[in-house]
Amino acid sequence: MLLKSMKIISVEGIVVSSTSFKESSKIINIFTKDMGIIGCMSKGCKSLKSKLRIPSEKFAYGVFHMYYKENGLSTLIDADIKDYFINIKSDILKISYLSYICELSISAFKESESQDIYPLMESAILKIEEGFNPKIITNILELQYLEYLGINLNLDNCVKCGSNKVVTISLSKGGYICANHRTNEPIVDEKVMKLLRLYYYVDISKISNLDIEENVSNEINHIIEEYYDEYSGINIKSKKMLKDLEV
Ligand SMILES: [Zn+2]
Repeated sequence: MLLKSMKIISVEGIVVSSTSFKESSKIINIFTKDMGIIGCMSKGCKSLKSKLRIPSEKFAYGVFHMYYKENGLSTLIDADIKDYFINIKSDILKISYLSYICELSISAFKESESQDIYPLMESAILKIEEGFNPKIITNILELQYLEYLGINLNLDNCVKCGSNKVVTISLSKGGYICANHRTNEPIVDEKVMKLLRLYYYVDISKISNLDIEENVSNEINHIIEEYYDEYSGINIKSKKMLKDLEV
């Protein structure tokens, strides 16, 4: 009966947590492309000789082969690593962004159960590995996750009247507003407004240039941070560490 409920599968994913189990093993959680988050026993992976050693480390990214158990712990058999994230792993700040992105992606996935999350997360991580500014890439991802977190912003036109002559953003009103519907919100720089919309719509995997003035990207970061703090209800541990490192 036990064997009947288990089958061998191969799934692409990234290890989002890795916990020691007994002397020599680990239990890992893999955020997969097609099957949500899978818990997996990785037997004997702490041994230096084990072929499961690297695939069982946090942030291992590749195709994982396992005995899959639908409502329980699967068993890792082997894995083909797609990318070792050598660039990210050489920089503590980038590692912190990777941690945050994984945690945030899990939140967005749990909230929406959407298959869109994994490819968004994957392309963001790969862009950071390619060398693009991790703060900007993370901001783009944060904006694109809003709809999956159920807190979307309207960045197309005035949330009150639909006019496209927008002058600022109101986080409490849920998006852009025109001069007529502005009450006490400070005017936001036109460049910031344009870029926010660009961040929201850009295909992350196709980004080839991120030449953005630092004061502009910082202001965008500030707006997104404020919105997340106020409205997302998610409290991500790695975000705090990121803030400490950024100072
Ligand atoms: Zn209006």
